[in-house]
Amino acid sequence: MFKQVESGLILHDNREVPVLTFPELEADGRFVHGITTRLGGVSSAPFQYLNLSLSVDDSAASVRENRARAARSLDMDTRLQVRCRQAHGNTVAAISDKASSDAPLADALVTDQPGLALTMTFADCLPIILADASVPALGLVHAGWRGSVAGVALAAWQALERLGAHPGTTTAYLGPAIGPCCYQVGDDVVAQVRALGTSARGTLAERDGHAYLDLARLNGQMLEERGVRTVRSRICTACHTDLFYSHRAEAGCTGRFGVYVGLA
Ligand SMILES: [Zn+2]
Repeated sequence: MFKQVESGLILHDNREVPVLTFPELEADGRFVHGITTRLGGVSSAPFQYLNLSLSVDDSAASVRENRARAARSLDMDTRLQVRCRQAHGNTVAAISDKASSDAPLADALVTDQPGLALTMTFADCLPIILADASVPALGLVHAGWRGSVAGVALAAWQALERLGAHPGTTTAYLGPAIGPCCYQVGDDVVAQVRALGTSARGTLAERDGHAYLDLARLNGQMLEERGVRTVRSRICTACHTDLFYSHRAEAGCTGRFGVYVGLA
């Protein structure tokens, strides 16, 4: 088990399934959110136990049961669950009403509507929750290296600005993702990251002739350059396959954990 103080997240293990929260976001009564782990579900290996994705080769019945447990544990089971078909791009879907929530092809969702549960699934890619309490409005982002280079975090921020968000009242919460300890990348990725300029400073490290990328720092710096404050969880999914799914550490054969967020 990781140390909760170092991770910056609180683990709630008194619910139907364990969930993690950002303490500062949880204290703001205008938002509800939570991050699941791989614990508490019914899926069998290699998806054990709380796989929330139908896009891997798990049983659909298991995923449905897992999703029901996750939603109940986050007290979001009565909300409309808004999912998207994640494609490692920079497309943002603005969810303006319940009718427009039908699983868009997108890697970012934004809304200013209450009663929804925006949700995405992850196994190493970086989850980002954007929250502006003054509107209030929020966004949820899925950022792997492709989406990061394509600017998905900034695209989500710009969509949130169109809903009235301001940098001074917005915080970006960066959740569990593969860390610079484990995220070895090739020359093509290095070149595309370096081409981002100042946002990329300090995000690439070299060890034993290999390059390693810090996804959270890259996306965090992109948002900070726009004046958005960031809070980082600093948990590496590949170092913690006891708690999280990791596409890299489990050689592509694994499940997905979930991030949920909505307006109270
Ligand atoms: Zn690691």
